[in-house]
Amino acid sequence: MPTLLNGTAVAAAIRQEVAAEVKSLTARGIRPGLAAVLVGNVAASHIYVSSKVKSCEELGIFSDLITPPETVTTEEMLGLVADLNARDDIDGILIQLPLPKHVDAKRLLDAISPAKDVDGFHPVNAGRLQSGRPALAPCTPAGVIEILKRSGIALSGKHAVVVGRSDIVGKPAAMLLLHENATVTICHSKTADLPSITRQADILVAAIGRPGFITPEMVKPGATIIDVGINRITDRAEFDKFFAGDAKREEIFTRRGSTIVGDVHPAAFELASAYTPVPGGVGPLTIAMLMSNTVRAAKMRRGL
Ligand code: NDP
Repeated sequence: MPTLLNGTAVAAAIRQEVAAEVKSLTARGIRPGLAAVLVGNVAASHIYVSSKVKSCEELGIFSDLITPPETVTTEEMLGLVADLNARDDIDGILIQLPLPKHVDAKRLLDAISPAKDVDGFHPVNAGRLQSGRPALAPCTPAGVIEILKRSGIALSGKHAVVVGRSDIVGKPAAMLLLHENATVTICHSKTADLPSITRQADILVAAIGRPGFITPEMVKPGATIIDVGINRITDRAEFDKFFAGDAKREEIFTRRGSTIVGDVHPAAFELASAYTPVPGGVGPLTIAMLMSNTVRAAKMRRGL
């Protein structure tokens, strides 16, 4: 029976540690602060940002929610970022993506002070991460490492295969695994004979964005599977492909008209020694690591 790696429990432990650290910093007159910038009216972005702000409140972190209108220009956003870079009560700046098409997202993200880049997307932080210097690492890959380490899964000397090479998930996940002394292979859409590579993985990280893409024949029995994918499915035939006979999922799907599936087919988990479920695996760690990065940024900025 594979072990289920409970991301909700790991995230709760991290949040508790962060709250304790915030309390002790606040007692010393340093209250970590996060600015969350939410442009326009994308419903999913509203939900994500609200839960980030709520998390700040729960952990004692100061938060400032800034909501420029959909019509905001790149220049106006650059002005806002410059203000936030200069504010002493703000340790972390988060610009919720996606931005409207007319806003130059890369220019904005590059304008955030690397010291306040709690998403870890700035090229300076990417470079620092790569060269093994203290860096603010992107939250989702940092969460992947936390769940592996806190679950006692050995990484040193293991073959980790990361499917996906985005700057936000795949590449930094590979880099973090390398720093843990795993032997790392990165795969992508042009990789030839992908199953022959994924079958070599002791640790298989799926960050692809395709529902149920990793099937049982792509998995080495006994592997640890980390499923980063979050894909909403609404189609009945697709639902049946993944969850036929799963009464709990059936109830959710009937009630909401949709459910979430990862990048790994649920049948593949049965071959694993341990795996992160979707939902309840990597997802909860992303916000926990954002909180942790905010506190880290507050300390690093003050040389603590
Ligand atoms: P991107 O779309 O930026 O990257 C997807 C990667 O998958 C690319 O590198 C792409 O290759 C690769 N890929 C696509 N198709 C294939 C294929 N057929 N074979 C092999 N590789 C393929 O996605 P993200 O990295 O941003 O996100 C990945 C997943 O993680 C998504 O499901 C997303 O929803 C989820 N996610 C979850 C988070 C969480 O909090 N749990 C946070 C962020 C993302 P190529 O580079 O060649 O195009």
